[in-house]
Amino acid sequence: MSPTADRPSVDQTRPEPTFDLHPDPTFEPAPGQLFIGGTRRESGTGLRHDVVDPSTGRTVTTIAAANTDDVDAAVAAARTAFDTGTWATRPGRERSRILLDIARLIRERGAELAALESLDVGKPLLLARTIDVTATAEHFEYAAALAQGLDGTVCSTPLPVHAFTRREPLGVIAAITPFNFPLLLSATKIAPALAAGNAIVHKPAGDTSLSALLMAEILQEAGVPDGVLNVVTGSGAQLGDHLVSHPGVDKISFTGSAQVGAHIAHVAGAHLRPVTAELGGNCAHIVFADADLERAVQDITMGFLLNTGQFCMAGARLLVERAVHDEILQALERTVPTVPVGDPRDPATVVGPLAGADRRERVDRLVQETVRSGARVVTGAERLDLNGGFFYRPTVLAEVDCHAPAVREEVFGPVLTVQPFDGEEEAVARANGTAFGLAAGVQTSDLSRAHRLTSRLRAGTVWVNCWGLLDPAVPFGGVKHSGWGREGGTEVLDSCTTTKSVIMSLPGEAGR
Ligand code: NAP
Ligand code: MG
Repeated sequence: MSPTADRPSVDQTRPEPTFDLHPDPTFEPAPGQLFIGGTRRESGTGLRHDVVDPSTGRTVTTIAAANTDDVDAAVAAARTAFDTGTWATRPGRERSRILLDIARLIRERGAELAALESLDVGKPLLLARTIDVTATAEHFEYAAALAQGLDGTVCSTPLPVHAFTRREPLGVIAAITPFNFPLLLSATKIAPALAAGNAIVHKPAGDTSLSALLMAEILQEAGVPDGVLNVVTGSGAQLGDHLVSHPGVDKISFTGSAQVGAHIAHVAGAHLRPVTAELGGNCAHIVFADADLERAVQDITMGFLLNTGQFCMAGARLLVERAVHDEILQALERTVPTVPVGDPRDPATVVGPLAGADRRERVDRLVQETVRSGARVVTGAERLDLNGGFFYRPTVLAEVDCHAPAVREEVFGPVLTVQPFDGEEEAVARANGTAFGLAAGVQTSDLSRAHRLTSRLRAGTVWVNCWGLLDPAVPFGGVKHSGWGREGGTEVLDSCTTTKSVIMSLPGEAGR
């Protein structure tokens, strides 16, 4: 997910001695408050909800549950910050310096951020440090470059005018983010939005909001003016419609499930409010017989187990050319049960718990329904009782029907379905055969085939002979039910700026 993560693999998630992994093993986070207009405060109702450590099921702290009055206050703070131009009218170079400072502070406080993220989501601490924190800093560094290059163009026209465009911020952006990479997926929205001069109201996932509050503090320390970033924590079901339809909001930037995305698009549509939607997936990983199979097995394994399978571009649907189907399945049967599952604080852990009891229930339900529909359990397919946490054994299912729930739906857990195919036509048809289109992967040593497939796969991203590599410089997003709009790359500016055309009549020119 970042250049420093390079090729994520089972082996490369082993401890690196280059940094201190945990600031304090007895670390307990402070209770979370709302962050509005540069000030921390309780919600209007004083209500709080529990923050649970998914690796033990234990409540570790509480967090403020906002109500709609709090949303109004956050939007008003953002509106004032934007309309008075405290941020938007600063030279891009100045915004750029502050974005670099944010990146520096994120790196400096990396151990603390990783500990918080690991505790909140249940993700392995090493993963939180190497991917979540590093990639978050990189998004701010990349946005710092974007802030300096917000140029318009001069338009060539036969009219007696000087015509040019300006790229301007949209105004107040409501950023709604999911539970699985809370810090990183906040950065993919907040960093470019800040680069372009917008103000933001951030609604992080109800289960995993702690790092959003620490990020707000870091932005303030780096010099982002009060009101430019506001954080309302609480339930999306309760606050969502109010925020999305709020007259003070100019744009919704959403990352989450297709189901909630469709609802948000519906509500926003009634107000003609633009939405960027980064939604779910159930990505096909296609392995041809001519691939480097040893390397492919590594990519397959991390492609479905990274972050306990809770990532949108998990390679959860494995399609294997029939000639090597049994060989790959045997390799997975040997490898997958050896992947260390356990305490996220243990540097040897590769797979942690799922982020919540309800999330584990859902994964188990989809697995059991798939088994009942005729699939064979190669390994896993059961809960793992460990310290009261929400663990699930890494699972591989073979002989899976293409209508099985785990093939049709996004499982969002450590679960891989395996299906054989004969030839490219069938591989493409199966890969494209779901409602999603987020990402896909091809393992082959045939370059011509790689090109043929990359053009035929209906997905926002295609990996060839790798899986899951991303970078702030590379656009990311989906097609079909996986969403629309792009984050990353210079394309991200299309989602947080608007183009103004200026046409100046030239005095004395003919045709005036
Ligand atoms: P989710 O249930 O769709 O929730 C996402 C966010 O929307 C949360 O902040 C949630 O708040 C909020 N929300 C819920 N109901 C809402 C409503 N009616 N109006 C407005 N906001 C509402 O997704 P999740 O379970 O957190 O995350 C997993 C999903 O995200 C998966 O489908 C995954 O594929 C997708 N995802 C996509 C990408 C990508 O880049 N394409 C990246 C990561 C994840 P609460 O938490 O309070 O309910
Ligand atoms: Mg949710």
